[in-house]
Order: sequence, then C-alpha cells, then structure tokens
Amino acid sequence: MPTADLIVSELRKEYPTPTQPLVVLRGVNLLLSPGERLAVVGPSGSGKSTLLNILGTLDSPSGGSVHLGGVNPFSLLGKELARFRSRTIGFIFQDHHLLPQCTALENVLLPRLALGKTTEEDRRRSVELLGQVGLAERVTHLPAELSGGERQRVAIARALINRPALLLCDEPTGNLDAKTADTVADLLLSLSRETILIGVTHSAHLAERFGRRMQMADGELVDG
Ligand code: ADP
Repeated sequence: MPTADLIVSELRKEYPTPTQPLVVLRGVNLLLSPGERLAVVGPSGSGKSTLLNILGTLDSPSGGSVHLGGVNPFSLLGKELARFRSRTIGFIFQDHHLLPQCTALENVLLPRLALGKTTEEDRRRSVELLGQVGLAERVTHLPAELSGGERQRVAIARALINRPALLLCDEPTGNLDAKTADTVADLLLSLSRETILIGVTHSAHLAERFGRRMQMADGELVDG
C-alpha cells in the first residue's frame, strides 16, 4: 500500500580516497510520517549535510534505500528524478539562495516554473504564502531590498509553494540574530504542519523546537 512516510533503511555513503574509502554514513535508519519534525545535530564533519543531500536526492547513496511516498527516488532517471524532487521536496538553506534579479513573488514562483508554465492560481498562492510569512507589502521587492530575516521568509514561501511532502532545512536560522531566528522558526514550524520536516542545526534552541532530535555519531543517526 502506498504510504506518505519517509522510510530510510541502512543508508550508506562512502567517498573514494587514494587509500581506503571514507565511510560517512554506515547504516542510517529513519521512519518519519507527515507532520513529524526531526532536528539532526552533530559535530562538523559528522555527515549531516551528506545525509540531507541524499534525502534531497541531490546526491545518491552507496547502499541502502530511501522511500518517500512509496517511491524510491534513486530508481528514477534524469528528468523523472528532477520532477520528483521539484514536486516532493522543499529546501531551505542557511543562505537564502534567492535569485537576485527576481522579485520576492518571482522567487516564490520559481519551483512552479520548474514544473511547467505558471498559472494565475500559482500567482495567487504565491501572494498568499508571502502574506502568511508577513511579506504582503514586499512582493515586488528584490532580495537586495529585503532584510536577512525577510529574505529567509521568502525562502520559506518558495520551499512551500509545491506543497512538498518533505521539507529539508540546513541551518535555516544560522545567519539571523536570535529574535529574527525565533520569528523565522515560528513561521517554518507553523506553515509546515502537514509536511515531514528535517532540519540540520547547531542551535540547541531550534533543535528543541523541532521536538524530536537525533545525533549523527560514527555514521549512524542515534536518539538524543
Ligand atoms: P557535516 O555536514 O556534518 O559537517 P558533511 O556531510 O559535510 O558533514 O561531511 C562529512 C564528511 O564527508 C567530512 O569528513 C567531509 O570531508 C567528507 N565529504 C563530504 N563531501 C565529500 C565529497 N564530495 N568527497 C569526499 N569527501 C567528502
């Protein structure tokens, strides 16, 4: 039966080196259902970004499997995989990655464009999302005309436009002051209630707000 869950089983990733392979993930297991939030913590170099990149289908595993919504993305080829990624996965990075020449509204619409032509309904939803993140008065602003917190709020709206089943965040509040970080975290958590949310963070405060916390240790994901 198809399931909306994210199921990660014995996921492995190793990188070749001139001597023996560098094993970064040595058997990660994870089961998350829609609405569940997970903060991934761990020291620098422990494999957090590697895990996020594989879950985001930006990199492929050396072994094990990932299923999202009943689909094994690594069985898909080129265009199919790109389409799956656009439809199913939203990304929020530490740096907003907004296109500087596009307005806030155009940036939010970009993931729709990746799936084909945008419609009037897409525009309406983009404006609505920008309103939900408190930027109703900023839709025609360019990224350079927005504050750091506002840019990150545009990035949240952009990540949500395709109603992703999985939302991946890499230090989403890492570049923000404490008060702005809290506001951005509030928006992130309140607007992604039906989504599987995984966030990599060094912030103990943000990790606490996610509810569940796991740590990368020796290439495995362990509770705590
Ligand atoms: P974290 O996000 O926890 O800081 P990373 O996932 O970025 O850790 O990196 C984990 C380990 O994998 C590090 O030792 C890093 O040097 C290594 N690594 C990451 N990407 C590559 C790559 N493309 N080739 C070789 N080694 C890599």
